[in-house]
Amino acid sequence: MATTKKDIRALSKEQLREFFVKQDDKAFRGNQVYEWLWSKSAHTFEDMTNLSIETRQMLEDNFVINHIHVDTMQKSSDGTIKNAVRLHDGLIVESVLIPTKTRTTACVSSQVGCSLDCRFCATSRLKRMRNLNPDEIYDQVVAIDKESRLYHNKPLSNIVFMGMGEPLMNYNNVLKAIDKITSPEGLGMSPRRIVVSTSGVPKMIRKMADDEVKFKLAVSLHSAIDEVRTSIMPFNATFPLKDLREALVYWFEKTKNRITYEYVVWKGINDKREDAEALVQFCKFAPSKVNLIEYNPIDDGEFQQADSAATDMYVSILERNNITVTVRRSRGKDIDAACGQLANKQ
Ligand code: SF4
Repeated sequence: MATTKKDIRALSKEQLREFFVKQDDKAFRGNQVYEWLWSKSAHTFEDMTNLSIETRQMLEDNFVINHIHVDTMQKSSDGTIKNAVRLHDGLIVESVLIPTKTRTTACVSSQVGCSLDCRFCATSRLKRMRNLNPDEIYDQVVAIDKESRLYHNKPLSNIVFMGMGEPLMNYNNVLKAIDKITSPEGLGMSPRRIVVSTSGVPKMIRKMADDEVKFKLAVSLHSAIDEVRTSIMPFNATFPLKDLREALVYWFEKTKNRITYEYVVWKGINDKREDAEALVQFCKFAPSKVNLIEYNPIDDGEFQQADSAATDMYVSILERNNITVTVRRSRGKDIDAACGQLANKQ
């Protein structure tokens, strides 16, 4: 009878050590294998050259390594790279490398499709098929780090969880992936260089505060008026702004960390003075930064970037209220790699 082999990367280091003891081998063999799996990103047991041939065969007989594969890689004229990543069950997610003069940032996915239904976002049309495992998130980062070194001669400096999916709807796996990314036995990156971007799940923001996470929080807000926000992000009816705001107050009281808001200004939707003033009222309780992001239209043209006068109006109102504001130009538009465009199109 055929048996399904277990993915070895689902085991902790302690579990690997116990496995080898049960095999009448030394516990430290587990450390060796763990190092191969994570800091050396071995794709096969064959690669584990400091293990005997018998040990490698025994691992082969018992386990698989469900590595991701970069199916296609597209390069934008601005240096942005988009990977279509095939998972062990054939599903595909996308991740993006965004190089600038000062940093190279990986934008990674946390779910196949998305649990939420933001109307301006291409990913929402895929619906959620499943959560990514910690190793599938970690592998996206490793693949992008390699590309950064190869094409831009520098290692990855930052990570944003802004690809496909709502990271706080896959919280445990995102946390485990970040543990590996920041661990000296993984990539050893500082958690301060990692941003988890959420559409705003109040309960999970509170949990992050209770868990004393060290990475940064960004909220895709897009409107501070419930009626407007619900019309573009329907889940806002379930998690209204009042609940989101209370969760953010809790986050700030616990962490004292500045909150970043991602915000797109669309023509005829949130481009009025009252929209900008509502934003100020929403975020002025704590040190905040607002990123005004250029919108990348998806196929139906329902959402259009507001004209520059509306952006200027937002900038002046925010600055007048001592809220840091940046206007972010989009990258990788020619390969559908920009924010909100990830939809497994090739
Ligand atoms: S914007 Fe983010 S949370 Fe909203 S549907 Fe798209 S991927 Fe999901």
